[in-house]
Amino acid sequence: KSTLYVVATPIGNLRDISLRALEVLAGVDVIAAEHIQITQRLLAFHAIHTKMITLHQHNERTASEKIIAMLAEQKSVALVTDAGTPGISDPGGLLINQVRERGYQVTPIPGANAAICALSASGIVTPHFLFYGFLPAKSGERKRKLESLKSLSSCTLIFYEAPHRLLECLADMTAVFGACRQITIARELTKLFETFYTSNLDGVVSWLQSDENQQKGEFVLLLSPVEPENDAEISEQVKHTLYILMESLP
Ligand code: SAM
Repeated sequence: KSTLYVVATPIGNLRDISLRALEVLAGVDVIAAEHIQITQRLLAFHAIHTKMITLHQHNERTASEKIIAMLAEQKSVALVTDAGTPGISDPGGLLINQVRERGYQVTPIPGANAAICALSASGIVTPHFLFYGFLPAKSGERKRKLESLKSLSSCTLIFYEAPHRLLECLADMTAVFGACRQITIARELTKLFETFYTSNLDGVVSWLQSDENQQKGEFVLLLSPVEPENDAEISEQVKHTLYILMESLP
């Protein structure tokens, strides 16, 4: 009781939710959802009938007060967003801060996240990545942000982007990182039209332009690192293997 659960929900496939998340959603007094209609679909699919209130970007402050009042009455609340993990390019941070400040328990219930889902199946071999989330909507500002990330050349850079800004965003990435930079587009993850496409920036733009259907849906963009950090290590390993081979060859 008096706990705020931060519950990750699916990013497409309604079955991508943990048993623990379902138990929590069914057991709490109230679910705070970004859009009641969207979460209702998930709850109906799993036959959950918990009462809901809204908490979104524009009412987070007032909704937080309501939730804190509920916690004060020994109630438990689950926070969910439309998809994925709350607080990751989604509301939740302000509420969680206030709940912690008042001394109530906050418990995460982990699950889907579009960035990690995309990275996990991208095939990019990288020990390091930077999750940026959404870039600014305006091109000038976006280019400045991209410039500021240029020095992180040994990291995979992960972005979220809306479909209507996809091509202009890729044009700015090309201007900043050059047309040869490798990029993976992860589209409609866990859904019917799930697609992964990897090429250089030039190649990805041509592919998108050749098929407008590929410009629809939800996207994660992953820019590959330029210099793998462990280059030196790999070449040492290669040298060692060559040495052993030479030793054992007749
Ligand atoms: N909190 C979410 C998470 O944990 O991933 C992210 C929410 S953010 C408002 C929505 C963005 O996440 C979309 O615009 C898209 O960039 C990305 N996204 C969410 N679901 C996706 C999916 N199924 N496939 C690809 N990208 C997705």
